Amino acid sequence: MSKSIAIVGGGPGGLTLARVLRLHGVDAVVYEREPSRAARGQGGMLDLHVDSGQRALREAGLEAEFHAIARREGQDMRLLDHTGALLLQEDTPDDAPLARPEVDRADLRDVLLDSLPEDAVVWGRAFRNATPRPEGGHTLHFADGSTAVCDLLVGADGANSRVRPLVTDARPFHYGVNYVEMAIPDIDRAHPELATVVGRGTYWVMGPGQSLSAQRNGDGRVRLYLGFHTPADWFATCGVPFDDPARARPALAELFAGWAPDVTALIRACDDTVIQRPLTMLPVGLTWPATPGVTLIGDAAHLMPPVGEGVNMAMLDALELALALAADPGDPAAAVARHEKEMFERTAPVAEMCLRITEMMTAPDGAQAMLRFFTGR
Ligand SMILES: Cc1cc2nc3c(=O)[nH]c(=O)nc-3n(C[C@H](O)[C@H](O)[C@H](O)COP(=O)(O)OP(=O)(O)OC[C@H]3O[C@@H](n4cnc5c(N)ncnc54)[C@H](O)[C@@H]3O)c2cc1C
Repeated sequence: MSKSIAIVGGGPGGLTLARVLRLHGVDAVVYEREPSRAARGQGGMLDLHVDSGQRALREAGLEAEFHAIARREGQDMRLLDHTGALLLQEDTPDDAPLARPEVDRADLRDVLLDSLPEDAVVWGRAFRNATPRPEGGHTLHFADGSTAVCDLLVGADGANSRVRPLVTDARPFHYGVNYVEMAIPDIDRAHPELATVVGRGTYWVMGPGQSLSAQRNGDGRVRLYLGFHTPADWFATCGVPFDDPARARPALAELFAGWAPDVTALIRACDDTVIQRPLTMLPVGLTWPATPGVTLIGDAAHLMPPVGEGVNMAMLDALELALALAADPGDPAAAVARHEKEMFERTAPVAEMCLRITEMMTAPDGAQAMLRFFTGR
């Protein structure tokens, strides 16, 4: 007899898992803390790789939908040093393969949600904790006081997972990088000269101790990530008035004084989006002992520095777990054991690589190191 499956978190990992399970005749319910699918902007772009994120969508029967949202030209890249010297420019030909196309996070979520029946996702359920049931499985407790029961609980609830403590004491730690996210809406109309600077994909400027990356989104917006190689308390100590965007913009631009003028012009052209993003990661190679009735996927399991692998690993975790569960729906423990072994072995080297790339980016000669990395690919 099939066992009931609860997935906490309706991000790319949780929704891919629900979709692939349904495709194989296994029902699962996703509990998502956001109140509705329209509740929150989903943020920026994600590049989906052929053997991981794209494979998960293919095996989820969503290849045509993927092609409809994939932005081939989003693969374009410009790498500069802080003086404005162009170190590398990669322009994507119109017939280039879709190796790492960018998709809008919101488009990806819509594709996955549209592939599920309405009742597969229960909105407005912020998971708090779970208590084991004497007959097996767990009772889930949500912030609104409601409860649900399941035989298998899958934590797909991201970086600050509340399911994670059921299997491990490990916590994400700050690794000395802070991002400030900003945005320039409708750049082609509002700032055509800056639109030309950024181009169709990612514009990346790296200098000592900090960086700026600007990325064109599908909706005509350019999203900026200002990166600072600073400790966890930097947001409180740096003197930037983050709660007042009109004053934060010039203060942030001032931190890039002496850099190429395009860099400060981009910061000054931003709207009132100023989001503080301290970056954290889980220990590389984290594992946990098999825990009856619970497992994790995605950032909940292996949060890594954001250099283009996180969503791909989350979706591949989802695919592998769904296939394991579908192969043996009556024995989720065996499926979970297979999934965890495969996930631990696959993601540890990827997390290690992400950490190495981050160390390269934050080294004093980060721009040159990244140039060597890209040209050596
Ligand atoms: C600035 C930045 C840029 C990035 N860029 C890239 C990139 O270019 N490429 C890439 O591959 N990765 C990128 N990543 C990483 C990527 O976003 C994550 O790896 C990916 O989203 C993980 O998917 P997930 O489904 O595991 O978790 P998430 O996407 O975090 O989804 C978790 C879901 O769970 C929900 N949730 C959380 N807590 C609860 C709760 N208590 N109860 C119920 N629901 C809950 C959340 O609302 C969310 O919907 C980036 C990350 C950051 C921070």
